[in-house]
Amino acid sequence: MSNNLLTVAYVAASALFILSLAGLSSQETARKGNVYGIVGMLIAFIATSFSPGVTEYGRLGSVILPGAVIGAIVASRVAMTSMPQLVAILHSFVGAAAVLVGIANYLQLEQFQTGIEATIHQLEVFIGVFIGAVTFTGSVIAFGKLQGIIGSKPLLLPGRHLLNLGLLGASVWLGVQFMTAIPLSGLQPLLIMAAIASVLGIHLVMAIGGADMPVAISMLNSYSGWTAAAAGFMLSNDLLIITGALVGSSGAILSYIMCKAMNRSFLSVILGGFGAGAGVATTEGSAQPTGEVTLATVEEAVEVIRNAKTIIIVPGYGMAVAQAQYSLSEIVKILRLRGVQVRFGIHPVAGRLPGHMNVLLAETNVPYDIVLEMDEINGDFAKTDAVLVVGANDTVNPGALENPTSPIAGMPVLEVWKANTVVVMKRSLASGYAGVENPLFYKDNTRMLFGDARKNLDAILGQLSYV
Ligand code: NDP
Repeated sequence: MSNNLLTVAYVAASALFILSLAGLSSQETARKGNVYGIVGMLIAFIATSFSPGVTEYGRLGSVILPGAVIGAIVASRVAMTSMPQLVAILHSFVGAAAVLVGIANYLQLEQFQTGIEATIHQLEVFIGVFIGAVTFTGSVIAFGKLQGIIGSKPLLLPGRHLLNLGLLGASVWLGVQFMTAIPLSGLQPLLIMAAIASVLGIHLVMAIGGADMPVAISMLNSYSGWTAAAAGFMLSNDLLIITGALVGSSGAILSYIMCKAMNRSFLSVILGGFGAGAGVATTEGSAQPTGEVTLATVEEAVEVIRNAKTIIIVPGYGMAVAQAQYSLSEIVKILRLRGVQVRFGIHPVAGRLPGHMNVLLAETNVPYDIVLEMDEINGDFAKTDAVLVVGANDTVNPGALENPTSPIAGMPVLEVWKANTVVVMKRSLASGYAGVENPLFYKDNTRMLFGDARKNLDAILGQLSYV
């Protein structure tokens, strides 16, 4: 493939990536956005494979084929509830790739460049390896936290900010050693820095509490983009630079949106509690809820639903675990046919991925216009007859507003307790991802319907269908 054709292919792929991002910004166009992304990636892949610099097709095939097969098998088998972990571990691959590309690139090109060209190249390598190593280990820890292998409690070491500063300072010092070293002897400071950056990545993500993990995920998404851009500079590949910058900046915007939704400052989240007071502390010391828990049977829940003219459904991570969205969608159909006003209230960090609930509801063809964001619906709870909380917990926790010592204090939540009656469907009184007790379960107007959300919704559906 000629260089001109390669440039045309790269421009086309870049344009498709931008169209893809635009498409993904709304549910109606998300499918189209995905298709643009796939086609863009296909063009990028074919063009790069046949670009003038690529000759060793045997070796290329021997790594691409197993990679593609393993990727396809893993992605097709992964449950929707495990998608966040998959995304986190994929981010870690981008980080690891950037570290390896950086080291290989340094060893390969160092001898052929001189003067300012060599200095710029060395800088690209050093920064690329640094971001790559932070992204790699940070994403592995995020994977562990989402998979439940590592507890969601933040690890708040004494002097943790000093430790971060020390690690950063040591990396800068090693950077100076690397830049001033004679050709190829910079490998040692480069490798030591990669080890230090790896520790920094682990420490940064370990210090992030459960409720703040959405920001950590989007932040690592952004880092993986900048890592790819750095690899693009190292390999002089314009498309990788553009793609990396797109992912990096969209991830940064998403992190900002998440922070706003959770009423957190970005700095406080990424530094694990820096200047955030109780907001990201451990759960110890937060007041235990008091009062009686009122249990409900399926029949009682059906009664509440039958008597309601207005209903808001608040789904959470438990709906994804139970795969309860299908039964829920059938219930919504029946109720709407009977003239009941049914709407969904979606918290920005509900589930384990940005937009997690929207994806599940879209899967079951719930009309988009009845799926409302928290800000759009929060004022309506007080004039609503019944709220069905399906597997949500942290996102409906009144402690966030009422208890300043709560680890999630200050986070805006869906104010479901203001409705006439709240039916909470979950299996026990266990806490949610943030590990915080929920006073909602003890309120007078709350009815706890224990059990798997899908089984209970199926039973409710069965009873509603016959009346
Ligand atoms: P939570 O994680 O707070 O709570 C989910 C609840 O679902 C649990 O308390 C659990 O209770 C219940 N549950 C689990 N399985 C079932 C089942 N089969 N049937 C019925 N209920 C079930 O969920 P939310 O969506 O309210 O909040 C999301 C949390 O995750 C927030 O803390 C958020 O910060 C965090 N997070 C969000 C990310 C994102 O990007 N959206 C990413 C990372 C973290 P029980 O065991 O009693 O059934």
